[in-house]
Amino acid sequence: MARIGFIGLGHMGLPMAMNLIKNSHTVTGFDLSPSAMKSLATAGGIPAKSVKEAAISQDVMITMLQKGAQVEDVCLGENGLFANAPKQSLFIDCSSIDVQQTRLIHKKAHECSLNVIDAPVSGGVAGAEKATLTFMVGGTDDAFKAAQPFLSVMGKKIIHTGAAGSGQAAKICNNMILGISMIAVSEAFVLAQQLGLSAEKLFEVVTNSSGQCWAISQYPPVKGLLENVPANNHYKPGFTAAMMLKDLNLSQQSAAKAAIKTPIAEQATALYQQLVDNNMGDLDFSAIIKLFDQK
Ligand code: NAD
Repeated sequence: MARIGFIGLGHMGLPMAMNLIKNSHTVTGFDLSPSAMKSLATAGGIPAKSVKEAAISQDVMITMLQKGAQVEDVCLGENGLFANAPKQSLFIDCSSIDVQQTRLIHKKAHECSLNVIDAPVSGGVAGAEKATLTFMVGGTDDAFKAAQPFLSVMGKKIIHTGAAGSGQAAKICNNMILGISMIAVSEAFVLAQQLGLSAEKLFEVVTNSSGQCWAISQYPPVKGLLENVPANNHYKPGFTAAMMLKDLNLSQQSAAKAAIKTPIAEQATALYQQLVDNNMGDLDFSAIIKLFDQK
């Protein structure tokens, strides 16, 4: 069984670390939040006092942080993961961050003789808890092979997307589709209501018709249609509107660097920005329906 350093024990990281512990790995974790550290200890993990302490003597290091700047902070510098991890150990970044920043992280990891993959996830907190996440993995064949035994206890679908950064590219494109489709579904529910069509009947028709997509069939933004969706619980996240905005902004940065236009994603980014500006960034992203449902 492996020794694993895990940095970032938030909504996603903690249940992922718990699945590694359940599968008999020794997990040493670090998070800035004392309550996350306490939860790790309760789950059978070892709380570290610093990133450095979580890196020393590990076979594998995993990060699950919000932003690229946090990943750089944790990985680089004399007290960071890369300077303190054993040579030839494996670094897995599961955070959703910028493609270019990810390629820089791969380069820096290789300079420290580490194996590295970017492995962002889809499936949300429920997927992290049930170990049913989808991993999108960028990196060499060897690093992908080395990571598989660990990813497979945290997820059920593990896709090697190609070279360094391609996991992040897949994640950004997936969430661009998700952000846009949640808006389309929300507009349809609001229009249906005004046309005298009930939410229940629209749900029944669309989930059996060509408008079907994950946003309506698994995560409808209207309460009472499915169990365990944020709409039933005052839009308690789930996946926050602020995080969706972060991912859409990443899509727009990437589109600008590639000199291509993504006009619908641009509009979707502006709408999630409006939700965040209206102090609803901490709500689930399906609360976007509140922008349209004003009657
Ligand atoms: P989160 O904010 O709940 O967790 C991040 C954790 O990192 C926090 O506990 C924070 O204290 C810790 N942290 C920040 N800087 C640190 C540092 N320097 N050292 C140690 N710990 C530090 O975020 P989350 O919801 O778990 O999301 C993590 C990543 O996963 C994000 O990139 C997000 O886009 C992605 N993601 C989230 C979901 C979701 O449903 N929440 C789904 C898929 C992907």
